[in-house]
Amino acid sequence: MKKYILAIDQGTTSTRAILIDAKGNAAFKAQRPVDWLFPQPGWVEVDADRIWISVIDVINELLVVSGATMDDVAAIGITNQRETTVVWEKSTGKAVCNAIVWQSKQTQDLCDARMDKMEFIQARTGLRMNPYFSASKIRYILDHIPHGQSRAEKGELLFGTIDSWLIYKLTKGETHATDVSNASRTMLFNIFTMSYDPDLAAIWNIPLCMLPEVRDNSADYGEATFFAGGVHIYGVAGDQQAALFGQCCFRQGESKNTYGTGCFMLMNIGSKPILSKAGLLTTVAWRENGVTTYALEGSVFIGGAIVQWLRDQTRWFEDSPDSEYYASKVKDTAGVYFVPAFVGLGTPWWDDECRGAIFGLTRGAERHHITRAGLESVADQSKDVIEAMKKEAGLSLPSLRVDGGASGNALLMQFQADILQCEVHLPACLETTALGAGYFAGLGCGFWKDKKSILACHKIQKVYKPKMSKAQCAELYDGWLCAVAAARFFKPRKG
Ligand code: ADP
Repeated sequence: MKKYILAIDQGTTSTRAILIDAKGNAAFKAQRPVDWLFPQPGWVEVDADRIWISVIDVINELLVVSGATMDDVAAIGITNQRETTVVWEKSTGKAVCNAIVWQSKQTQDLCDARMDKMEFIQARTGLRMNPYFSASKIRYILDHIPHGQSRAEKGELLFGTIDSWLIYKLTKGETHATDVSNASRTMLFNIFTMSYDPDLAAIWNIPLCMLPEVRDNSADYGEATFFAGGVHIYGVAGDQQAALFGQCCFRQGESKNTYGTGCFMLMNIGSKPILSKAGLLTTVAWRENGVTTYALEGSVFIGGAIVQWLRDQTRWFEDSPDSEYYASKVKDTAGVYFVPAFVGLGTPWWDDECRGAIFGLTRGAERHHITRAGLESVADQSKDVIEAMKKEAGLSLPSLRVDGGASGNALLMQFQADILQCEVHLPACLETTALGAGYFAGLGCGFWKDKKSILACHKIQKVYKPKMSKAQCAELYDGWLCAVAAARFFKPRKG
């Protein structure tokens, strides 16, 4: 009997490897930071070989610290930063240039030139025209390496997001594949037909022969021959979708919110894709035995980052978690609202011009009120996204499952439960992304029989129940919406 599933979580800031036992515990963990490259302002790249090396390192470290061997591992699951684009040579397995990271803006011009195709693209992919997604990044790479287009057309070059890159390396070039969740972020994948779309590929002039084969999330992706032991890769998913699965949001309406630097929210909307009019993305959550589950996705730009800003710019406290202690010194914000639109507002406002503002100051307002208002803004912005999701999906929210650094802030989580008027569930294991990849792999290889056995593993650390009255919550949220409207009304002077 094998003891573990090995989950590889290749994130934007670090690479982690985790051994998950049959009870769903993250038994052992190893982690390495990933170095970003900033060749120009707004550009973000990463050396694809460095990513691969970091994966080898964390696996080796994990085996040493745990005392396990690959013989103890039933299967490998992979989850990854989505959209980040690698192009490599089929003959050598060498990347032709640095990988372009999802956040990088170097393909903005390529997107601007195709703005007239925005509606067409959204109708087939569920995405907005944005440099985030892989298609413009592939185009950029083919334009900037010698004979890129002709070599790609001849089948000499392969594209992959980080999952495909790692699968290719782990299987020593045997498998060139990706899963449906990662494919749905390329902007080349039709989420209705669940296949690459030649019309989309034509918009970017990308040869279909360079794209990875698309498989279910729990499928055999081949043997990881790079390591001894005959272990197969049986689970693959993009990070946000993996977290949705790792939080066991298996049913329609179930949603998770990750409170990191920004907030990423996904709602399981079942087997029918809904195209959003409120700026939400429609994406593939996963596909099991050919049956697709979709999700709506929304994001808040400044989530935990408001706490970083307060910490670093006002120096009212030294560590992010201390924000809770100081915010708790006052019973409420005394009518203060903080709209942290430092880089504009995301879902559902999509206002690039808006800038941050603090409203409602009186002579009695002091720093603890402002800190508290900063924390509440994270919950209010998340509510903005969730309200849009509920409306568009026509679903109610049974509870919100939370993870990410700032989910450790009890005051913020209680306020989130209050303002949403629903329970907020904090899982026992916060490595939900790795868990999701592990669950997919475990289902694929039979380590777990079905989703019911996974649900039996899912443990909740804490449940926050709404304590505030409906009327008080409505009044507070109305104040927030007024503050957002006022911030949007203000037009900063240019220059
Ligand atoms: P990321 O994956 O985006 O790097 P993390 O999930 O590690 O982010 O979360 C880090 C963010 O959460 C930071 O912005 C930090 O300020 C914030 N944060 C971490 N712990 C707390 C806390 N206890 N209270 C409030 N904010 C926190």
